[in-house]
Amino acid sequence: MSAYKKMLVAIDLTEEAPQVLNKAKAISSAHGAELMLVHVVEPVGYAYGGDIPMDLTELQDQLDKAAKEQLGKYGDEYGVAKQNQVVTVGRPESEIHRLAKEQDVDLVIVGSHGRKGFQLLLGSTANGVLHGTECDVLAVRIH
Ligand code: AMP
Repeated sequence: MSAYKKMLVAIDLTEEAPQVLNKAKAISSAHGAELMLVHVVEPVGYAYGGDIPMDLTELQDQLDKAAKEQLGKYGDEYGVAKQNQVVTVGRPESEIHRLAKEQDVDLVIVGSHGRKGFQLLLGSTANGVLHGTECDVLAVRIH
């Protein structure tokens, strides 16, 4: 098997993120691969039904700013180059598919909760990422 050259690790910025980051760091170092760190901010408009007209730009900007700060902290802690620390806005699965393709990534790393039963039916980000990513995908089990 040839070594992976460019990996993308997607994190949700919860307290579970380090579990995924630790694995991503170890695997990328073992392969001598470049590591990209990605967080996708979901548009506030998705959560808000829109019955009352409201300008959500400022709130979205604040969310983007907070995400960039938090991602930057993780990026620095895990030795990810600044240009490989990416925050985008959209649906996590779609953005991860897009970036993996655009950036010529050969391994995508995401966390997985190993859901069962009804929860499984609702779907997970890991599942969404797997279906639609052309390169290999590694699901890190979250405990
Ligand atoms: P989930 O099971 O849907 O809670 O998501 C599990 C994993 O999906 C997380 O550990 C991350 O790797 C990835 N993920 C979920 N949400 C995001 C997000 N907004 N941006 C980037 N990655 C995410």
